Amino acid sequence: ESFNDMCLHSSIMKDIAFHEYTRPTSIQAQAMPVALSGRDLLGCAETGSGKTAAFTIPMIQHCLAQPPLRHGDGPLALVLAPTRELAQQIEKEVKTFSRSLEALRTAIVVGGTNISEQRSELRAGVHVIVATPGRFIDHLQQGNTSLLRISFVVLDEADKMLDMGFEPQIREVMRNLPRKHQTLLFSATMPVEIEELAQEYLSNPVQTKA
Ligand code: AMP
Repeated sequence: ESFNDMCLHSSIMKDIAFHEYTRPTSIQAQAMPVALSGRDLLGCAETGSGKTAAFTIPMIQHCLAQPPLRHGDGPLALVLAPTRELAQQIEKEVKTFSRSLEALRTAIVVGGTNISEQRSELRAGVHVIVATPGRFIDHLQQGNTSLLRISFVVLDEADKMLDMGFEPQIREVMRNLPRKHQTLLFSATMPVEIEELAQEYLSNPVQTKA
């Protein structure tokens, strides 16, 4: 499997070449074709496996296939991650593969930052939100963003999110998504709690192991 076989947008291909990703990693070779096909995914992957690109590239491709963003539109894609540091790394990777896509707007929504500064950015409209669960729910409850247009969801390091007590927030999001959406769940370990979450919220997922 190579990136050339994945029918990626030419600007994404340029960014892949620019960053000298010559070959997909194992998780990328397995997960990207599934994610690009629109199916749900249960991915067993650790940090360092290249999992971030495995979901950010299909997510950008998904956003590019949607009608242009209008002022005030809610996000198309949501990534939930356990920590601010991981969210920042993910946002960086989104930027890596959308260097020349100036129209692709991404917001990072994490604790420890000024909530009212984030409010105006979210209200103006973004394609992608990368967030920690608690802060994302705060913004939802304040009406600063919505789930109405979300059609692509990533739960990254889901086992760690559960360990940190974010299960209620994850369920709150998953239960209120529009009916038509795609979900990718990544976890380093597959305890029974993750299997239950996947059972409940993923639809006929493909399971991959790096
Ligand atoms: P991750 O597991 O997503 O945190 O990625 C670990 C590191 O591998 C990051 O620094 C990525 O930039 C890098 N990386 C991911 N995929 C590739 C690839 N196909 N070729 C070269 N480097 C990669």
